[in-house]
Amino acid sequence: MAKTPLPLGPTGRPDRVIPAPQKLSQHGPARIIAMCNQKGGVGKTTTTINLGAALARYGRRVLIVDFDPQGAASAGLGVQAHDVPTIYDLMLSKIKDPREVIQHTETKNLDVIPANIDLSAAEVHLVTEVAREQILAGVLRKVSDDYDVILIDCQPSLGLLTVNALTASHGVLIPLACEFFALRGVALLIETIEKVKDRLNPQIELDGIIATMYDSRTLHAREVLERVVDTFGDKAFDTVIGRTVKLPDASVAAKSILDYAPSNPASEAYLKLAREVVQRGVVA
Ligand code: ADP
Ligand code: MG
Repeated sequence: MAKTPLPLGPTGRPDRVIPAPQKLSQHGPARIIAMCNQKGGVGKTTTTINLGAALARYGRRVLIVDFDPQGAASAGLGVQAHDVPTIYDLMLSKIKDPREVIQHTETKNLDVIPANIDLSAAEVHLVTEVAREQILAGVLRKVSDDYDVILIDCQPSLGLLTVNALTASHGVLIPLACEFFALRGVALLIETIEKVKDRLNPQIELDGIIATMYDSRTLHAREVLERVVDTFGDKAFDTVIGRTVKLPDASVAAKSILDYAPSNPASEAYLKLAREVVQRGVVA
């Protein structure tokens, strides 16, 4: 008898079951991934926190680098980032050892290097530095062996900080919100990644595009997702993050969605994203 075909997922591809990743028998060195999109409000920080928490749930040692002066990732992970050492101190070599800055979060296996508004001054200070694009890479090299994955939550710009993130990274994940003009600006981002690849970091690759804030009830969101899949093909992840108020609520409560609303579909979506990230070999 013929097998019943799998139902189609939101991307129009078969909705495969992705198995839980194998346990790791040893840890590190980390694969470093920049979570990047120069557009604000597309789900970078939310995806960094919740993908990080989901990978941690699967036993990966995860470090999140808050690399946005807004400090949203720090706050969302429950870290009060004023009056503590931050990534700014490391970037300016005021503190040499990242371990003095790293904080543990409530989630097992999930650590963070916080940021606060100080970081907005870093760009100005770093302009005159030698090898100014490579400073973050130098910082992260010192702790890479302690983690399986390092996720850098980039700020919404393509300036020197983001170029530092791209120079430090093995891969880039681009969160894209399924709304008007989602793809506007992405060509410029890809061009920037290509320039960094040519001039600073030959190993960097585009790991994939993650569609966020998807509302299957609106034709518009479905059309945007279709365009994303047409444009990026296999680089578009099968896993799509739906729109739910539980995600902003979880951030306000300074918890991951896995802890805040474990039975919400967004919790399973981020766990599935983590499984897909491992299955694609983006993370060991
Ligand atoms: P970015 O870091 O790209 O600026 P955020 O992750 O901070 O984006 O998301 C912008 C806003 O949208 C935040 O208030 C966040 O809580 C909310 N948000 C993110 N993802 C979702 C989602 N899937 N559904 C609903 N709201 C979301
Ligand atoms: Mg953000």
